[in-house]
Amino acid sequence: MASVKVPEQKVILCGEYGVGKTSLFRRFATNTFVTSTDRKSTLGLDHYEKVYMTDEHQGVKLQLWDTGGMERVASITSSYYKFAEAAILVFSLDSPDSFNILSQHLLDIVTYAENAKIFLCGNKYDLKNQIHVTDADMETFCEQCHNLISGTYKTSCKTGQGVEEMFIDISKQLGEAN
Ligand code: GDP
Ligand code: MG
Repeated sequence: MASVKVPEQKVILCGEYGVGKTSLFRRFATNTFVTSTDRKSTLGLDHYEKVYMTDEHQGVKLQLWDTGGMERVASITSSYYKFAEAAILVFSLDSPDSFNILSQHLLDIVTYAENAKIFLCGNKYDLKNQIHVTDADMETFCEQCHNLISGTYKTSCKTGQGVEEMFIDISKQLGEAN
């Protein structure tokens, strides 16, 4: 029987406090969502692994890392970025501030995780009439980044919309790179 090749890929979540990184992590790990009133600060985990099969003989193990709220109290340490194969720049679609600050997070990624593939994720897509960051804004950002962004996604951790699709696409792109 042919062996199945499953390389492990470290994927980090980057972005401002409150945009939904822990919620994405929670969706990835347990496919659940909690609101601010009933949520514990973290799952008690800082990373979680999951295998995605890209075809019959090949899979990718995504090892997703969450900041654990560190960004609220201090700057993220370089060890968080180290050896990351991918970084997801997360912002909240209802918050232009969380979007406009992404170039700073991008700079950290290219500094500390030089070889990481970079993805852009607009979260809280369910807040339909409060969306203040448009597709055109996202496109412009990608152009300004000289095609450093390998994929853009719109997600809702609340409904689950787009979340699994994003991780599947990222695993495919990481699988192709191997
Ligand atoms: P983090 O600081 O980036 O880790 O953000 P959290 O995951 O802790 O989320 C911050 C707040 O936004 C919490 O109250 C979440 O319940 C809420 N939240 C996260 N994702 C979504 C989403 O997709 N839609 C809505 N409506 N709220 C969300
Ligand atoms: Mg968090």
